[in-house]
Amino acid sequence: MGSMNFDAVATRNAVALPAGDAPAIDALDLAPPGSRVVMVAPHPDDEILALGATLSALHDAGRAVRVIAVTDGDASHPDSAAWPPERLRTVRPAETAEALRRLGLDPNAVVRFGLPDGGLAGREHALARRIAALLQPGDVVCVPWRHDGHPDHEACARAALEATRAAGVRCIEFPVWSRVPAHPAHAGLRGVALRRILVPADLQIAKSHAVQAFRSQLDDDGETAAVLQPLALRTWLDTDEWVIAP
Ligand SMILES: [Zn+2]
Repeated sequence: MGSMNFDAVATRNAVALPAGDAPAIDALDLAPPGSRVVMVAPHPDDEILALGATLSALHDAGRAVRVIAVTDGDASHPDSAAWPPERLRTVRPAETAEALRRLGLDPNAVVRFGLPDGGLAGREHALARRIAALLQPGDVVCVPWRHDGHPDHEACARAALEATRAAGVRCIEFPVWSRVPAHPAHAGLRGVALRRILVPADLQIAKSHAVQAFRSQLDDDGETAAVLQPLALRTWLDTDEWVIAP
């Protein structure tokens, strides 16, 4: 996710998009049979919060799912004695592995780039080359939206778009922070061709359980408020997941 707080007043006053009108698509529409899904996750938890259920459904239907962990999320607790960067670099990738396991996905299907959390802007071309080197014909790449409102997310989008153009494969963007009604980037989704992927009840339960694996982001450690606040969590644990039609 990447540390980014917004205040409770904005949360109360926020107006959600009328996304209920967005056309619903099936998770399997994202990637044809035989294709591989490559999820580009700026921080450990983005992949699960935004599209955990969709990835699980794709895996169950026989699509190979791979995750590129661009950073290890070691900047989520700046100046925290309890969560120094070296601890986060160990704990957060392990949390993603556990969350993937809880969704029936392969916890080892993750390639870690280890780039600096909070420092991806300006590294897009190098990142694009590293992504492109992993791509195969027919891949479908998923990445946060280019206007998601977090510099790392937007840099990953620019890199993935460059890599997929070069490789001639499909790139699908999805909102993470911008999905949260209180976030300033949310309003930017108006006019964007959103598609909703309905999450069946059993997958809602599995996703909720998977999200609980991100303890470092959910717990108040006494000096830093939880990174993932309840109202935002409720958004990501809704009955659908969103993508932007390519
Ligand atoms: Zn993130």
